[in-house]
Amino acid sequence: MSALGSKLRQLEGGRVSFKCPGCGDWHMLNVSGQGRPRWTFNGDGDAPTFTPSILYRAGHYIPGSKGGCWCDGPEDADFKCIQCHSFVTDGRIRFLNDCSHDLAGQTVDLPDLTYPEA
Ligand SMILES: [Zn+2]
Ligand SMILES: [Zn+2]
Repeated sequence: MSALGSKLRQLEGGRVSFKCPGCGDWHMLNVSGQGRPRWTFNGDGDAPTFTPSILYRAGHYIPGSKGGCWCDGPEDADFKCIQCHSFVTDGRIRFLNDCSHDLAGQTVDLPDLTYPEA
């Protein structure tokens, strides 16, 4: 794992990741390699652009999920049910209206990575 520019981590297996300011999770994208979902990436770790959109679901937002819902758990639980749907363009992230978090419908800068990682 290493930094790629100011915004991204470079991971094994042709993946990169960024810390999502909407849902607070890391989103991992396969940008090279074969036989997997694959995004087009402009190669710029300071002002990344990915296409197509990024859709992330957890808990009861996963279609057909049985159980695995954390909505009734304690407020500070590690897991949350989330839907996060975004476009990343030139280092900015635009959240679509179907996101379940507070940044739905907004566009914000991707945060710079900070070290050491919490
Ligand atoms: Zn997210
Ligand atoms: Zn839930």
